[in-house]
Amino acid sequence: MILDIIKIRKDFPILEQKVNGKQLVYFDNAATTQKPIQVIEALNKFYTEQNSNIHRGVHHLSQIATTKFEESRITIQKFINASKSHEIIFTRGTTESINLVASSFGKKFITDGDEIIISEMEHHSNIVPWQIIAEEKKAILRVLSFDDNAEISIENFKKLITPKTKIVAINHISNSLGTINPIKEIIEISHKKSIPVLIDGAQSASHIKIDVNDLDCDFYCFSGHKILGPTGIGVLYGKEQFLNAMPPYQSGGEMIDTVTFEKTTFKGLPFKFEAGTPDISGAIGLAKAIEYIKSIGIEKIAEYENELLNYATEKLISINGMKIYGNARQKSAITSFNIGNIHPYDIGILLDQLGVAVRTGHLCTQPIMNHYNIPGLIRASYAFYNTFEEIDIMIDGIKKVKQMLE
Ligand code: PLP
Repeated sequence: MILDIIKIRKDFPILEQKVNGKQLVYFDNAATTQKPIQVIEALNKFYTEQNSNIHRGVHHLSQIATTKFEESRITIQKFINASKSHEIIFTRGTTESINLVASSFGKKFITDGDEIIISEMEHHSNIVPWQIIAEEKKAILRVLSFDDNAEISIENFKKLITPKTKIVAINHISNSLGTINPIKEIIEISHKKSIPVLIDGAQSASHIKIDVNDLDCDFYCFSGHKILGPTGIGVLYGKEQFLNAMPPYQSGGEMIDTVTFEKTTFKGLPFKFEAGTPDISGAIGLAKAIEYIKSIGIEKIAEYENELLNYATEKLISINGMKIYGNARQKSAITSFNIGNIHPYDIGILLDQLGVAVRTGHLCTQPIMNHYNIPGLIRASYAFYNTFEEIDIMIDGIKKVKQMLE
């Protein structure tokens, strides 16, 4: 065994509980991951010993809180190998990070007739903000489609680029199909034409080693809660040259230098993009989560999750009537499926009765549902604290549910 699962599971107290009288099997990790006790304790310690507002106070607690908050920024900087800590902007999550770029980059760099490239397999969070700015600026959204294996084609991508392309925004891993996109190639091709690239890393930061310097992406976004951290905190990494050129996204306290009724001047990075009191405990909790992941080793996590994926896929396809959506050659530990004509909600609700938590519905990717002409999917997404035995429990559950519904 690559990982000491028994030891790891002891760090996640929530996994010990029973749901509907059955041992909980938590396979909704792509929606949010569970939190290790180390993160929970860091939050507890913050509120029992360190709580204060940051950056503004000369007193003891404010200085401790400020130091912890800024240390968290450095932990994140190192985790994704950004060159400078001020290239790390704290946000509420991936959604806010993308909104920030779409709105601020859009205001500055996108004009009438310009084009924005996204893919057909984006989460709504990487579609709607671009649609809104495109409408405002009379720009055009170009969509890169995916094929029968749920893969995008580099040749098609090249064809979508025109002299009007202003930015490419694409996910690293699809939350519905599990596809790992060839982002390095996409970035290289785009940069040859001087087009910046935003990577939606919501599904990749906790599964793949991220090196923004090596990738050379211009923006990379992720959410704390999908990487063992708290909800309400997220990250936008942006290259200094872009962040400096972009106008503030929100305004108010923390982000100003001087204010008079005639004119306001703004602070430099990262504060220019961090208006108001941030999620201080969230940042500290996220740094703890990253330390926890590092202590296990992200390469080992990826290897183990890949074994879970292969095992689950093999077991799922042995079920009669099973159709798995997303068979990319490079795939993350996500299995989305339907069985015969059974509605995904019915399976989800009955699996819950057996203690198995899966997600059902459009998974915030309605264009993917439209691509396949289906109402929704059942998605089981795995994390490194899951086990092969849990997959067996889900498979037995699916067989039982199938018998009941057919
Ligand atoms: N992008 C992808 C690929 C996602 O999977 C998600 C969440 O599921 C998001 C963006 C949005 O993340 P959040 O809700 O944490 O902002």
